[in-house]
Amino acid sequence: MRNSFFLIIMAGIICLTACGKQDNYETQSRSLFAMDTYMNITTYGENTESALNKAEEQIKELEKKWSVTNDKSEVYAVNHSGGSSVSVSKETADLLSFSLDISRITDGAFDPTIYPILTAWGFTESEYRIPSETELISLLKNTGYEKVKLSGNYITIPNEMQIDFGAVGKGYTGDLITETLKENGVTSALLDLGGNIQVIGSKPDGAKWRLGIRDPFEEGHFATLEVSDCAVVTSGGYERYFVGDDGETYWHIIDPKTGKPAHSGLITVTIVGEEGKLCDAFSTSIFVMGLDKAKKLWKQRDDFEMILVDENGKVYLTEGIKDSFFLNQMHENMQIEVIRR
Ligand code: ADP
Ligand code: MG
Repeated sequence: MRNSFFLIIMAGIICLTACGKQDNYETQSRSLFAMDTYMNITTYGENTESALNKAEEQIKELEKKWSVTNDKSEVYAVNHSGGSSVSVSKETADLLSFSLDISRITDGAFDPTIYPILTAWGFTESEYRIPSETELISLLKNTGYEKVKLSGNYITIPNEMQIDFGAVGKGYTGDLITETLKENGVTSALLDLGGNIQVIGSKPDGAKWRLGIRDPFEEGHFATLEVSDCAVVTSGGYERYFVGDDGETYWHIIDPKTGKPAHSGLITVTIVGEEGKLCDAFSTSIFVMGLDKAKKLWKQRDDFEMILVDENGKVYLTEGIKDSFFLNQMHENMQIEVIRR
């Protein structure tokens, strides 16, 4: 069962290494449990063991900094600071700075201070409940990215407020370990950080990586995406949810304006781009923002592409990705609309 992001900390890390050959290419793969999710890194090429060790070490260090529940983490120190400034590492300051930028860009659809609301819904402990309107209104008073102060490496938040990087940390981790792997000679790799995919280069034979895009309505994949050197991140309502006594489905992506699970009409959002942290942050934000705002955001920028599916099963693709996207055989009847500049 999934607990909160990063709930299961270092103690829970399981590590496995496997070596082998695929299509005559040397492969190594490393599996671990970190940041409350299963991660797998597969490298192609010889002598990648030490690169993998460094990447694994780095993931553990980042987890130690960003865990909400580990009382030794930097995020924990910020969340229990009683309103005073806390000095953090460069990675944490960078990630917060980036998160606050995304909050501004998305007009608050992305908000790193939403954690107490997630707790109220029971998502952090998997003990689900529906909070009352009064409870939500009172909790919302202690949220709001505008109240977070970052000055150099110092973070200050009001007492009662909490930050968490659940919607962006895995993406940033992907960027940092991609850098580490490349610096250590890896030219071809597939990183799966709990569903956040990042690929280095192409497959060793030069072909693009073929990634399955999960079907939001049933098990399996509805489409295939062919990519190289990029991140592919999906946010969906079906990832973590519960059905309340009222028969409604409640999921873990919250609209910061209401404190309730976001209902924008989109059921799954996949973002493709060079930067994992950007894809991760935008996948969550666009799930909250909905189709029209997503189109506007995409038109203003040139650093990501998107695949959206709405509640009726209609697919929206941005033009930069349309030639790399293929509906799987069983799903050939899905209606597709291409979003153009
Ligand atoms: P996952 O981590 O499940 O793959 P996401 O990247 O979409 O999916 O992140 C969901 C997590 O982000 C939630 O579990 C929660 O910690 C956090 N979160 C939920 N809603 C928001 C929001 N509006 N802004 C920022 N973070 C959010
Ligand atoms: Mg995200």
